[in-house]
Amino acid sequence: MLVYEMKLEGQKVQYERLDEAIRTGSFVRNSIIKAWMDGQVKSRNDAYKYCKVLADNPNFPWAKKLNSMARQAHAERAWAAIERFYKNCKAKVPGKKGYPKFKKYQVRASVEYKTSGWKLSEDRRYLVLTDKFEAGTFKLWGSRDLHYYQLKQIKRVRIIRRHDGYYAQFLIDHTREEKKELTGKQTGLDVGLNHFYTDSEGNQVDNPRFFRKDERQIKKLQKRLSRTKKGSKNRIKARNRLGRAHLKVSRRRNDWACIAAQHVIRSNDLVAIENLKVRNMVKNHHLAKSINDAAWYKFREWLEYFGRIYGVPVIAVEPFNTSQNCSNCGKKVSKTLSTRTHRCPHCGYEADRDENAAINILQSALKQLSTTPGRGESNISGETGLCLDGETQYR
Ligand SMILES: [Zn+2]
Repeated sequence: MLVYEMKLEGQKVQYERLDEAIRTGSFVRNSIIKAWMDGQVKSRNDAYKYCKVLADNPNFPWAKKLNSMARQAHAERAWAAIERFYKNCKAKVPGKKGYPKFKKYQVRASVEYKTSGWKLSEDRRYLVLTDKFEAGTFKLWGSRDLHYYQLKQIKRVRIIRRHDGYYAQFLIDHTREEKKELTGKQTGLDVGLNHFYTDSEGNQVDNPRFFRKDERQIKKLQKRLSRTKKGSKNRIKARNRLGRAHLKVSRRRNDWACIAAQHVIRSNDLVAIENLKVRNMVKNHHLAKSINDAAWYKFREWLEYFGRIYGVPVIAVEPFNTSQNCSNCGKKVSKTLSTRTHRCPHCGYEADRDENAAINILQSALKQLSTTPGRGESNISGETGLCLDGETQYR
């Protein structure tokens, strides 16, 4: 699945109708979660059926206005949340199991259409929403050309509201494959705060300078927001400014991660990484670390994406003493975070701490490959949320 994103341009009244559609999508989702809590919905099929119940209820006239397949798409979202909860319970995941919650109002929200309820103009520069919210025709702004694909390849259209406007995402059913010469190289990557990554040959890629700049900018805006009075106009303004800054930062990060990942995939025949848990990363409140984590997460998604395109296996290994063990003799050599060099008292091997870790990552990936054939490849992003804007900048 490819995702293309374009900005929507319309009139204020049209945006208000998009808001209504977005609100209705959340309403469908929340109603189904509620019906599940009450025991009325017990399966995905029940969830689909419940869409009709909502649409037929005269108390909710808005439910009928949303395209029927879009209602189903939101039933799927509700059911996905329920299913995730069941799965976590079954797997006995420690801590919170993710009991489905109701979606509250947020600026960033979306409504999802499937193959009906929208139309593209002949020249594919305009998107028309055709359901009963009557949002009408929007001009599409973006660097991508939708002409390349057939209409039937567009499986979904998501309308997303962000701090700086409304966007349409087109989910396109397309498998891309690219030819790549074998390079005879395999690599392991270790990520950290000191360098963005270190590979198993000791090459280091530093964090781009804009990470720090972005961090300072966001800190400044956070401070400004905290100085405003609750409920005041200035607070709304400050929050909006902060929201936009976050958006800008994440786009820049995504572009950068995309380019870096494509480079790694094209220069190797196998890439090994550490299976870092997103959950642990998001919890972190330290700003510099959170910016780094988010970039690393995007980088990993892009690695897996390009890995599939170029036929390069990307293998995620469980982080287990990767920085502690000696990559030469396998013995554990304890070190604190500030110890930058690995010096093994057992075999005398010496290397940069991160390089030693990267070698361990590559070695355990190869071991994993040889013991569990076909199961080594990681896949955290079956349904990808990646957006290809960044990819166009690759040279
Ligand atoms: Zn050793």
